[in-house]
Amino acid sequence: MKKKYLGNTGLLVSEAGFGVLPMGPSQLALPIEEGAAVLRYALEQGFNFIDTAQYYQTYPYISKALEDGKYDDVIICSKSLCGDYDGMMEAVFEAQRELERDVIDIFLMHEVRAGQLEERAGAWQALIDAKARGLVKAIGLSTHHVDIAEAAADMAELDIVFPLINYAGLGIRRGDAFASADEMLKAIRRCKAAGKGVFGMKAFGGGSLTVHYQQALDYAFGLPELDSFMIGFGKKSEVDDLLDYLEGRMAPGYNPDVSEKKVYVNQEDCEGCGACKNACPAGAIYWNENGLASVDHEKCLTCGYCSPVCPVRAVIMY
Ligand code: SF4
Ligand code: SF4
Repeated sequence: MKKKYLGNTGLLVSEAGFGVLPMGPSQLALPIEEGAAVLRYALEQGFNFIDTAQYYQTYPYISKALEDGKYDDVIICSKSLCGDYDGMMEAVFEAQRELERDVIDIFLMHEVRAGQLEERAGAWQALIDAKARGLVKAIGLSTHHVDIAEAAADMAELDIVFPLINYAGLGIRRGDAFASADEMLKAIRRCKAAGKGVFGMKAFGGGSLTVHYQQALDYAFGLPELDSFMIGFGKKSEVDDLLDYLEGRMAPGYNPDVSEKKVYVNQEDCEGCGACKNACPAGAIYWNENGLASVDHEKCLTCGYCSPVCPVRAVIMY
């Protein structure tokens, strides 16, 4: 697989990265051996870049896939939602322990929203210190927000930006408002001009664009500003599909079968605004015990009307 340097970090990463989230307990909940086998298969096909997070609880899949040491040079990115210094430092230590690595290649502030750079300043200082102590090679943030990606371009100590971008602009925000793919792309260009490493996420908008598989990938992998693009996988067939696409073997018009997939609300992201509930023609969305949206699969028509109206991209399909 083609590789590119991730900004000025010196890390040489495959053009597609392996997102471990879908196999974990919040989505497919695969047994460790089964998930590790999918990841291992991808590594054998040339992936050398893995994305995980403290929140995903997917470290065991990675350590299992890497246990024989054959892929010790694979580059792992993790991240944490912790907002304070001690919590973020402990998140780095946890990744070291559970991934059995003395040095974590990349560690990020996870999903930074508008206004949170100040709130999470303690966590950012912890990452700066972790890098200075040699615990982490590169630091940065992941975000769905254009304004945060713009600010990242001007953060001197920041090496990496991991923004959400897809051709339909699904899930991209500026402050409390929706924003476009073009706005995010301009922010990404500012980051690149400042020497940051940038890799994208959510090419399929959380699953809603998978029915436009090749169009979504044409956009994601056609952006020269990106050093890599993380794609989430839970099955070997999904790895094969992506490899067929990247290596030009995919038949025009091919789309993966998504008939088995269901719509869910990511409880980490949902803000309880009700837009999905109002858009649902089937009355399939209800408020759960936490005051957040959930989907009743007995009623859901998988029509997808709820997905584009969600301001935080919490409606996902897998
Ligand atoms: S996919 Fe359609 S039916 Fe299902 S929850 Fe969303 S809007 Fe409702
Ligand atoms: S639209 Fe999104 S944030 Fe609002 S209630 Fe639905 S899932 Fe939650």
